[in-house]
Amino acid sequence: MKILEDRIRQDGTVLPGNVLKVDNFLNHQIDPQLMDQMGAEFARHFKDAGITKVLTVESSGIAPAVMAGLHLQVPVIFARKHKSLTLQDNLYTAKVYSYTKQVNNDISIDRRFLSPEDRVLIVDDFLANGQAVQGLFDIAATAGITVAGVGVVIEKRFQKGHQMVVDAGVPLVALASIASFADGQVIFAQD
Ligand code: 5GP
Repeated sequence: MKILEDRIRQDGTVLPGNVLKVDNFLNHQIDPQLMDQMGAEFARHFKDAGITKVLTVESSGIAPAVMAGLHLQVPVIFARKHKSLTLQDNLYTAKVYSYTKQVNNDISIDRRFLSPEDRVLIVDDFLANGQAVQGLFDIAATAGITVAGVGVVIEKRFQKGHQMVVDAGVPLVALASIASFADGQVIFAQD
């Protein structure tokens, strides 16, 4: 998506550890118009995939996931990282290692929100080593639901997650695909 690539060039900062900081439109301050356009783009790709729900992980996945759900006209579920008084039992849970926070989290979804006939689209902000998506794959497998697609705002193609999703045979759409970071510059993949 050209508008997204332009925004990354304009506002993105490359941090040590191959981390792209884009917190003035995606990860902290959110640009709702851009999110809306990205949701429309996800919906354009997956409109014929029979999606019944969009699945993401809190917190940075929520904004793009909600916009995808809005355009696909389906509910959005975000896996939670912390148990609470309102989220305790009857959960699907998976372990996820956080790329940016470098800690293990349990992510959980209330079983009431998934049923075997669901065909889900997984949406997240970044695809790096694929841990977050793998956690949602694990929950989908336990719940016996079909993952019909993965949509990410930004993939870092040079890390393991891209190939993991391809190897799983799940259609993958990345709205911006980064081939490498060279001297602090973002180089986008050509295809
Ligand atoms: P993965 O699980 O694919 O290794 O990493 C995905 C998660 O880590 C995303 O949900 C995102 O929150 C975070 N992440 C991974 N790489 C980056 C990055 O370059 N920049 C930012 N801001 N977050 C990242």
